[in-house]
Amino acid sequence: MDIVKSSLQAVRQRIARAADLAGRAAEEVTLLAVSKTYPAAAVRALAEQGHHDFGESYLQEAADKIRALADIDACWHFIGPIQRNKTSPIAAGFDWVHSVDRVIIAERLSAARPQERPALNICLQVNISGESGKSGVAFDAVSDLAGQIRDLPGLRLRGLMGIAQAGNDVAQQRIQFAQLRHCLEDLNRQGMALDTLSMGMTNDLEAAIAEGATIVRVGTALFGSRIKRAAGVDR
Ligand SMILES: *Cc1c(COP(=O)(O)O)cnc(C)c1O
Repeated sequence: MDIVKSSLQAVRQRIARAADLAGRAAEEVTLLAVSKTYPAAAVRALAEQGHHDFGESYLQEAADKIRALADIDACWHFIGPIQRNKTSPIAAGFDWVHSVDRVIIAERLSAARPQERPALNICLQVNISGESGKSGVAFDAVSDLAGQIRDLPGLRLRGLMGIAQAGNDVAQQRIQFAQLRHCLEDLNRQGMALDTLSMGMTNDLEAAIAEGATIVRVGTALFGSRIKRAAGVDR
């Protein structure tokens, strides 16, 4: 599993360099390995390198993987779109959910969180690119949504998640990530105690770290291209 090891090292180096440039400690940034479409064996290989946080987008695939990997010490993050009839298994199987953008979803996660588990960590997904058809609550609705969710039992509102528009240069990426940071700062001025900015992926993690990301969600740079995988091309 040398490929996994060297990819992990390379991503860690990117994070460390970006943090250094931003005057931040690399430890302030958690690397979330996005293992969607990759088999349990790939997750296990990373876990054997001491990696802990894994992100999944598709519930059925994730549930199978979590079951197959019950013996590893992993923290599971759900980062995909959430259908309201799928909230129970998400509330039961995950430690974090990054993609909450409607109050009904939060209410259902709250009701379904098993009482013996610690509170489910929640990020509100914000549509930072402003593109229509993209998931996420609009900036001007974040504060109301956060207010409706912050006191739900079984949940702990941790912060905000955003996906920047693809294909932009670093300056444009930073503008979108800065808006998400400002939004979090506004909420904290209103009395919330949010500590998480989930932003930055393979192609824009440097810009996200420069703007204060505390979790970067990285798939391709760790596991390889999902498009090539879908086409059956070996990497
Ligand atoms: C797939 C996915 C990622 C990882 O994207 P890469 O470009 O492969 O690093 C991050 N966040 C979300 C929400 C995703 O769906």
